[in-house]
Amino acid sequence: MESGMVRPLIAGNWKMNGLSSACETIAEVAKGLEQYSDAADCLICPPATLLSKVTETAKGSRLKTGAQDCHSAASGAHTGDVSAEMIADLGASYVIIGHSERRADHGETSEIVAAKTEAAFRAGLTPIICIGETLEEREAGRTIEVVSEQLAGSIPASAFGKAFVVAYEPVWAIGTGKVASTGQVGEVHDKVREILGERFPGQADQTPILYGGSMKPDNAAELLAVENVDGGLIGGASLKAEDFLAIYAACVSAK
Ligand code: PEP
Repeated sequence: MESGMVRPLIAGNWKMNGLSSACETIAEVAKGLEQYSDAADCLICPPATLLSKVTETAKGSRLKTGAQDCHSAASGAHTGDVSAEMIADLGASYVIIGHSERRADHGETSEIVAAKTEAAFRAGLTPIICIGETLEEREAGRTIEVVSEQLAGSIPASAFGKAFVVAYEPVWAIGTGKVASTGQVGEVHDKVREILGERFPGQADQTPILYGGSMKPDNAAELLAVENVDGGLIGGASLKAEDFLAIYAACVSAK
């Protein structure tokens, strides 16, 4: 965990999971947070269908809400899409951008990710920009090259002076139960911090860098103790209040 000025963040990505009954989980997380220190931020990004209800349920608590994607335009002829302004209008404050599932399933390039990041800034949302290598890229020894390229292409110059979050998520560790080793995580997070420092002087030590990829209550403490890991982006384990709160607890005690 970074000991500087970074405020840690534990973020849940529900992906395409949850019907209206899932708001019970939100209420449980919101209430459960009261028993822990507020030294870290806590966020859940439900599917777009639930964002309004989830944001309403979390109101008045320390739990923040966000979306899993946004369009780069503010409005217009984009059937099925949701703009950053629409997300902000609901009272949500974050948006995940460039998740590897969107890069793979929807052909999102780093250029598209950068345009969506601009949209998030325009609407006053905090973007969580995702990067990460595939197994093939790691095995070819290209991890640092790939994440460096994704970082350079996905974060627009306008990010200077603005709040944003980077999530390092090795694609091979997402939803697979395979977790990156602390050495692998540390190497990439150190590099991300270094690149941010070169590109955005004075800002790198305020930008949370999250690890994502099969983080669970039983491995969270170890991962969150790695230097330059400022929190987690959690998929599967964010669907159960008890597990998600246990990861939050691990985060505040690793600080
Ligand atoms: C994710 O969806 O970003 C993620 C890290 O998923 P999981 O925790 O299930 O691997």
